[in-house]
Amino acid sequence: GWRNINRFSTSAAVEDLITPQVPIRYTQHLINGRFVDAASGKTFPAYDPRTGEVIANVAEGDAEDINRAVSAARKAFDEGPWPKMSAYERSRILLRFADLVEKHNDELAALETWNNGKPYEQAAKSEVPLFVRLLHYYAGWADKIHGLTVPADGDYHVQTLHEPIGVAGQIIPWNFPLIMFAWKVGPALACGNTIVLKTAEQTPLTALFVAKLFHEAGLPEGVLNIVSGYGPTAGAALASHMDVDKIGKRVKGYSLHRVLYLSTDWSESHGNLFHKLAFTGSTDTGKVVLELAARSNLKPVTLELGGKSPFIVFDDADVDKAVELAHFALFFNQGQCCCAGSRTFVHERVYDEFLEKSKKRALRRVVGDPFKKGVEQGPQIDGEQFEKVLRYIKSGIESNATLECGGDRLGSKGFFIQPTVFSNVQDDMLIAQDEIFGPVQSILKFKDTDEVIERANRTRYGLAAGVFTKNVDTANKLMRALRAGTVWINCFDVFDAAIPFGGYKMSGIGREKGIYSLHNYLQVKAVVTPLKNPAWI
Ligand code: NAD
Repeated sequence: GWRNINRFSTSAAVEDLITPQVPIRYTQHLINGRFVDAASGKTFPAYDPRTGEVIANVAEGDAEDINRAVSAARKAFDEGPWPKMSAYERSRILLRFADLVEKHNDELAALETWNNGKPYEQAAKSEVPLFVRLLHYYAGWADKIHGLTVPADGDYHVQTLHEPIGVAGQIIPWNFPLIMFAWKVGPALACGNTIVLKTAEQTPLTALFVAKLFHEAGLPEGVLNIVSGYGPTAGAALASHMDVDKIGKRVKGYSLHRVLYLSTDWSESHGNLFHKLAFTGSTDTGKVVLELAARSNLKPVTLELGGKSPFIVFDDADVDKAVELAHFALFFNQGQCCCAGSRTFVHERVYDEFLEKSKKRALRRVVGDPFKKGVEQGPQIDGEQFEKVLRYIKSGIESNATLECGGDRLGSKGFFIQPTVFSNVQDDMLIAQDEIFGPVQSILKFKDTDEVIERANRTRYGLAAGVFTKNVDTANKLMRALRAGTVWINCFDVFDAAIPFGGYKMSGIGREKGIYSLHNYLQVKAVVTPLKNPAWI
């Protein structure tokens, strides 16, 4: 078993399998409330990253499947009950869905672990419950979305209507398949939109499972459509979709001006130009989808992209606690977090002690079969990410960072990597610049506050930052100076449903979670009515 190959695990902590397998019930696309094969009839494999073995063959979507899903979502938006029903009723369906997910907590967690490799205990105790929490949170918003009355000059009554945008296209990554689903689907549905969601090709299974539960909870057909498939085919088709199936013939041959004119007539052209795209993934792919959206129908886009987040430890910190938190900030989820604290800056006065203890902590990290109790780290998601992480480790060694521990694969099958710590890391090294997305901690030394602020900000990313200090002045200064969408002070990876999340700089556009995410899925319409009979009537 893993115990033999896993020199990082303490055998006392590793017990028998919790639950090895669950049935894989759903592998087809879910379009218009029904499971269907791909239009082409093609399938692609889903793997178990513990072994690299195929666990299911899943319908492989491309442009035609996306077309069918968008048509279903469009029809559900234009003709179905979803955007028109009382917001309270929508809220009730979201609540029923969340309760059903909660009932299937363990089965969903097992499926997530099987296909993604994350520790089962993490999936069961943290991710599925957070999914449920997110849905409860947005269910609570559904009947509290409303416009304003606006004081305006002159004798006018002015009000704003907050309307759903229409069909939302959503593309999600593989590192938190369920959580990413909830971040996208919760606010879009609370606002009354309909959805075509493309899952990551590595992790297609749990989204199909929960989407089925959603229909059991009473979601009308066509409101939530799930297409599995690869990025450059299914993903690109969604990002560049024109959504002109209803008015395609009519606008053909017209100038852009004419298309804009037509689309202002709600009854004639419902969706065109109001289609929305929400993407989470790498910065390179984010640029591609933004361009596809702009070149097609100028659909508004939100992007949640990569990061190279600093975790800054000051000399007044409790070193043991800082070591533990910095370790968690980087190694959590096999290091596959967009906001991983992947540059650990440590004040020179505590650097040596911090380093020694961080190395010991990494050596104690329990790596192994994610279904076993006490396991902290499972395999990386797939061969591609596994190779990429090993290449970055090689680059760190070649650029003369000091390899304190780890540095290689673990075992001979699957995609396990030893928890790796580099010290002596310099700002310009590739391992301090690029997102590694693996269990590789880079420790850098700093002398004073202004220096570390400047160095922490010297990256193209700006997703998150961690600050570890007992000094309130230092904390106040850092929380304002750091160019990042989230600053965690004396904590890290706190992901409550109400807390907005998103990036500065090349880490993205827009915010998800909390009240902010609702703005991504609403149009604001200003309605102006004269209070007196105007002279021109
Ligand atoms: P990726 O960008 O390759 O894939 C993400 C999604 O985009 C997948 O569904 C993929 O199929 C799709 N995609 C790929 N090419 C596409 C194309 N040409 N057109 C449309 N869609 C396409 O990213 P990945 O490597 O799978 O995921 C890891 C990355 O995601 C990391 O860089 C990480 O930082 C980022 N991430 C960010 C957040 C966040 O909230 N900011 C969260 C999780 C992951």
